[in-house]
Amino acid sequence: MTTPFSTVRFAYLLPFLCLILATACKPATDRATSMHRYFEEIRNNEALLTAFFSRMPKGGDLHNHFSGSVYGETYWNYLLRKKPWFDTVSLAYEYDSIKSINKKGNYKRYVYIQDIIKKGKLATLKQRILQQWSVKDYVPSDGPSHEHFFDSFGHLPSGGWHETGIGLRELKDRAKTEHVQYLELMLKGIPCGIIPAQADRYEKLLTLHQYSDTIKLKPVLDSILHDLRKQNLFACVTDFNTTLQSIHNEFVPDDDDVTIRYLTYVNRKTDPVKFFTDLLLAFEAAHSNPLIGGVNILSPEHGDVSMRDYRLHMYMFRYCHHVYPTVKYSMHAGELTLGLVKPEDLTFHIRDAVYIAGANRIGHGVDMAYEDNSGELLRYMHDHRVPIEINLWSNEFILNVKNNDHPITLYKQHNVPIVISTDDPGILRSNHVHQFVLLAKRYPEISYADIKTFIFNSIDYSFIKEKETKEKIRASAEAGINTFEEEVLKGKL
Ligand SMILES: [Zn+2]
Repeated sequence: MTTPFSTVRFAYLLPFLCLILATACKPATDRATSMHRYFEEIRNNEALLTAFFSRMPKGGDLHNHFSGSVYGETYWNYLLRKKPWFDTVSLAYEYDSIKSINKKGNYKRYVYIQDIIKKGKLATLKQRILQQWSVKDYVPSDGPSHEHFFDSFGHLPSGGWHETGIGLRELKDRAKTEHVQYLELMLKGIPCGIIPAQADRYEKLLTLHQYSDTIKLKPVLDSILHDLRKQNLFACVTDFNTTLQSIHNEFVPDDDDVTIRYLTYVNRKTDPVKFFTDLLLAFEAAHSNPLIGGVNILSPEHGDVSMRDYRLHMYMFRYCHHVYPTVKYSMHAGELTLGLVKPEDLTFHIRDAVYIAGANRIGHGVDMAYEDNSGELLRYMHDHRVPIEINLWSNEFILNVKNNDHPITLYKQHNVPIVISTDDPGILRSNHVHQFVLLAKRYPEISYADIKTFIFNSIDYSFIKEKETKEKIRASAEAGINTFEEEVLKGKL
């Protein structure tokens, strides 16, 4: 029997097919070669690389913390509107009347903002504040860089949802300027005052079982969940979802330029019962709100409680995954290096996040080379498509890990999906472009084609829930990169 696609008939079509393919593919191949050549020419010139990446569509930024991404100048303007009193030595500030400050006993050092303005000292104060709230002008004699970085968060003024909206708009505007199509922001934990009725008893049980497996932990976690459900814990999530939706629609509605989605998170510094309660809230929010793509775990990984409860936290994530199997989670794991913690503490954090917790993405993963059987772990991450979120400038500032110390080449060698992200560009006085400049300058083994893959990874491995939205952002990034490459090759950059 002869079909329209029989061998004989297909043979007639072959020359035409080859002609069509040659016509269609040749310009794209030529363009790839020309872009590769151009990129290698500018690789060692930071100014040219900055101009190049400033214009290049960069897909998504999947690892950035809202509070650390807004620049200090925005926080400063907010503080000025509140008309504070400043302690001119510590740079602490108070919104209270001087009468209330007097009661605290340190009033002599406090000066009212209007008096600072009258004396012409406002600009000096602002500079000192920006230095305290970020890495601006930091020098090593200021103290350990990781302490300076993490302390910065504690100085930032916290506003309400309206100020969150203003911050979101700033990040969206900046993303548009930088040609970033998508932001996945770690926004907030879910505030809620509810605790289990027998919190002390649960605390003891969790501490007792923390190094056991889920068989022993499960009944305890089941009881806590049951208790919290009886107290209507998830009403807190409903309130949060309603407010987030309205702030999103008012300040950063979806459009063709930049789309924003959110991760909610838990703080790894809290004790086990509080941590688990917050984790349930975070998973419920990610389950019930289309704008929340998933969950993360934050705070310094080398802190005492973080280190003590690390494995317990991993079991709790695994438990929540069974309760909410469709919720995705990225986990800060392995943001550690030799000297910061004991050597044996460098051997299992990424392993546990991947193998026990079942993380969908890993944030930082800096200690990979120290992990037990890192080759097997890297192969697993490759085989199961667990991407690594690489934050080059953050790792350099906080951990002093850069150049060949950084494991990015290990991830690349094992074809683990890589995405490039910023972490806290406001506090780190950086941006998305800067990350790509560092990447290109430091790692000649990473080609222009690799960088394009990383960019598309940042959309493909995002936690966007709506299929159409994800496809639209990818199509926009692809079209943008095509136009960008044409402009580069015409010398119009
Ligand atoms: Zn981070």
